[in-house]
Amino acid sequence: MYSNHLIESDRNHLIHPVTAFRPHERRGATVLASGKGMYLRDIEGNELLDAFAGLWCVNVGYGHESIVEAAAAQMRRLPYATGYFHFANEPAIRLAERLVELSPPGLDRVFFTLGGSDAVDSAVRFIVNYYNATGRPAKKHFIALDKGYHGSSTTGSGLTGLPAFHRDFDVPLPWQHHIPAAYPYRSPVGSDPQAVIDRSVADLRAKVAELGAENVAAFFAEPVQGSAGVIVPPPGWLKAMRDTCTELDILFVADEVITGFGRTGPMFACETEGVSPDLMTMAKGLTSGYAPMGAVLMSDKVYSGIADGPRPELPIGHGFTYSGHPVSAAVGLEVLRLYTEGGILANAQERAPRFREGLLDLQDHPLVGNVRGVGLLGGIELVSDKAEKTRFDPALRLPERLTNAAYRNGIIFRAFGDGTIGLAPAISCGADDMDRLFARLRKTLNDVL
Ligand code: PLP
Repeated sequence: MYSNHLIESDRNHLIHPVTAFRPHERRGATVLASGKGMYLRDIEGNELLDAFAGLWCVNVGYGHESIVEAAAAQMRRLPYATGYFHFANEPAIRLAERLVELSPPGLDRVFFTLGGSDAVDSAVRFIVNYYNATGRPAKKHFIALDKGYHGSSTTGSGLTGLPAFHRDFDVPLPWQHHIPAAYPYRSPVGSDPQAVIDRSVADLRAKVAELGAENVAAFFAEPVQGSAGVIVPPPGWLKAMRDTCTELDILFVADEVITGFGRTGPMFACETEGVSPDLMTMAKGLTSGYAPMGAVLMSDKVYSGIADGPRPELPIGHGFTYSGHPVSAAVGLEVLRLYTEGGILANAQERAPRFREGLLDLQDHPLVGNVRGVGLLGGIELVSDKAEKTRFDPALRLPERLTNAAYRNGIIFRAFGDGTIGLAPAISCGADDMDRLFARLRKTLNDVL
């Protein structure tokens, strides 16, 4: 009775993100009620192994009492403090300091947001301000990757390279451009890593030449393209793109909203290749989803460019009521402690070989065209013909069938529109959880055969 009422109310009133309205009214919601470790329970009492950490965010798993305590203590002490007009709060200052310590060298300044989309927006606005302040106002064009995801605001969805986020929303904007993804499985130059890297570098150079370097502000990239279906560029790609940006005199922005906080192994994916971006965006794992928060980290070059511009005494007109929210910041500090002193980052690195083995084992499955992954981030691309790499006919509604079969088998993963499965289990997961994950996943694939 109680659950019927909730599902009915959801159908009638709640608009769901990134979900077709009418099909949702017909299907109804899976209403999640509680979570512990990497297991969720819905209001029907079904247990679901969450192989996607919520939405690639609950890196430490559900039910950490120490995080709840940190939030409650901060709410009691000071539930809100503005960061406007020279006010500050202790958790936000301490979190900024900690992020600077943990991030690649050279990123010494932190601006807090509410999530990833407004972190991307903030990065774009600061870059525009930077070029105006430093006397190069023509540098206003931005380049990103096809299939990339940079959020749902008008600015971020335009930088995003996924048709679903453009369709009927009148983006990209005229100053937003895309170059092909570094997608070894479907690259026109084959899967040879160096060839894929060379191709991306050439594509970026060509786009900058077409627009004129004097008109290009920045290149945005995810180190691994999560929402594209976990497209993992070859090792060396990130460094090559960073170096190309430096050479072409455009800023390089790493969007680590998914890849940050241990998802690919180290604290940030940029570390793997010794890359220091000019700006870095982050969210999700920053608070492990326990409270909304994102951040933009900024190099001194960009910060000083803005700070020492022609109007240094006037306010910088960019900020949010909840920038540096003390409760979110207190949560972030405790989550960072769990990653480091709490051993969760080390656990992620320990689990990664078994995760990789689990992905590779699936390669033989009749539906699987390609498996790929890094750390505890994985993609499994399903095809109807392995030799031809043919995608499933959308009329077969494979993502929907996968999601329904997964639910019956007690697992949640992401089934992308093209039939790719995304995996991002909590990086705190145990060895047994991992075995259970792959057993339930294989059973699900067999069920949709
Ligand atoms: N950037 C990347 C790489 C993301 O994956 C996402 C969300 O998935 C965003 C930005 C947007 O973050 P949010 O949904 O917190 O606004």
